[in-house]
Amino acid sequence: MTEAELRDEVIATARSLFTRSLTHGRTGNISVRLDDRILVTPTGSSLGTVRADHLSVIDTGVHHLAGPRPSKEAFLHAAVYRARPGATAVIHTHSTHSAAVSCLAGVDQRNVLPPLTAYFAMRIGRLPMLPYHAPGDESLGALAESTARDNVAFLLSNHGPVVAGESLPAALDALEELEETAKLFLLLQGHRTRPLTDRQVRDLAPR
Ligand SMILES: [Zn+2]
Repeated sequence: MTEAELRDEVIATARSLFTRSLTHGRTGNISVRLDDRILVTPTGSSLGTVRADHLSVIDTGVHHLAGPRPSKEAFLHAAVYRARPGATAVIHTHSTHSAAVSCLAGVDQRNVLPPLTAYFAMRIGRLPMLPYHAPGDESLGALAESTARDNVAFLLSNHGPVVAGESLPAALDALEELEETAKLFLLLQGHRTRPLTDRQVRDLAPR
């Protein structure tokens, strides 16, 4: 894919997230990896209006190379790319149901959501939750990087999900699956629930 095509794909994904209320206001950020550079949505931008010629360019060390100033959450994207050589796209949102789950007390921080459906088991697998840090607190970078080595997604406490993909459509699919599973999980609170078995999950797990 050319850089122009990738930029257009970022914008199409941004609009898709925004118009379906998977992100709101000026929250959420999207990045793609292009050789050793990262294109990421800029600080203060809305995914409803950000333009293809207004993306920030950084490297995996979070150095600002070109374009407007990057999102203050860009360091999380860079951490995921350092950890996952196969990842070419990262999406972070404050999607309602995922954010709601990130505020729950008493969940298993190593794996927040049970494997309710096959698609969640295939696209996400395990979902660790990282401890609360203020937005933009880069001291979370090292933990994000070590967590991303073994997980395609993680949840930031009282905040929202970060999801990696081998392509931007794959990252979007995984983010949507996470959000829908978070919604199911909340709907099922107080109901007896039968998640997939360990064996069923093992047969489906992402690598
Ligand atoms: Zn955020």
